[in-house]
Amino acid sequence: MTREIVRTEGLACSYRVGRVLEEISITVAAGDYVGIVGPNGSGKSTLVQALMGLCTISAGSASLFGVPCGRFTQWGRIGYLPQSLRLLNPVFPATVAEAVGLGLLSLKRFPRRLSRQDREKVAATLELLGVHDLRDKLIGELSGGQQQRALLARALVNDPELLILDEPTAALDPETRERFYHLIADLNRSRGVTVLLVTHDAGAIGGHATKMLYLDKRVIFYGSFDEFCRSDDMSTIFGSHSQHLMCHRH
Ligand code: ADP
Ligand code: MG
Repeated sequence: MTREIVRTEGLACSYRVGRVLEEISITVAAGDYVGIVGPNGSGKSTLVQALMGLCTISAGSASLFGVPCGRFTQWGRIGYLPQSLRLLNPVFPATVAEAVGLGLLSLKRFPRRLSRQDREKVAATLELLGVHDLRDKLIGELSGGQQQRALLARALVNDPELLILDEPTAALDPETRERFYHLIADLNRSRGVTVLLVTHDAGAIGGHATKMLYLDKRVIFYGSFDEFCRSDDMSTIFGSHSQHLMCHRH
């Protein structure tokens, strides 16, 4: 039996400007790697925020691990990297290691203290993302790319079963970007981590995604990666150049 990690039924979300998402009905199974694409303002970030309980669902429903989002509490099973780092306080008085440690602490009951095992886990995660040498720097002192990797470390430190990444490589240089995509693909393949990846990076999704979601306020396409590549509608809407970049599977 395939486990259902995410399900939405007729999901709609509104801001003051009105509805920005409508009639979203999708299911994501354990082990899927879903590439989420669509024009600017098509509701990609709103969709993942709705799943994370960060915006109000105005119609329909969503569930995580079989639990309705409103009642979901097991946030440690999810690693989330939001699109905008703007919320990050530049004088946030924490070092990289402390910020990643907070990812573990926030799930503990009182007394909240990191064990030796926890500290080893933090170190290993920093190592994995190549930011171990930055461990004692303040988050606010890092470059955009370094901050991104530190925050990804925080998203990964709990060994999440579901990883939600919203345009995670925007601030990364090409080489780090490549390493980053390999890392995510490896987590997906060897550890079975379910991945939702919002990105404009056509080549990168092509290498790894098993499913594609094309949003434009509604679901324009949701299906397997191969169906996406065979879809004439998608060539028309998405542009045959981008489709080729993805489907060529570099
Ligand atoms: P995408 O991530 O696909 O670029 P978003 O989900 O960020 O799209 O935005 C979808 C629409 O909702 C856009 O028209 C955007 O301007 C609007 N929107 C997003 N966030 C807010 C907000 N906090 N308040 C009001 N409108 C918003
Ligand atoms: Mg967005």
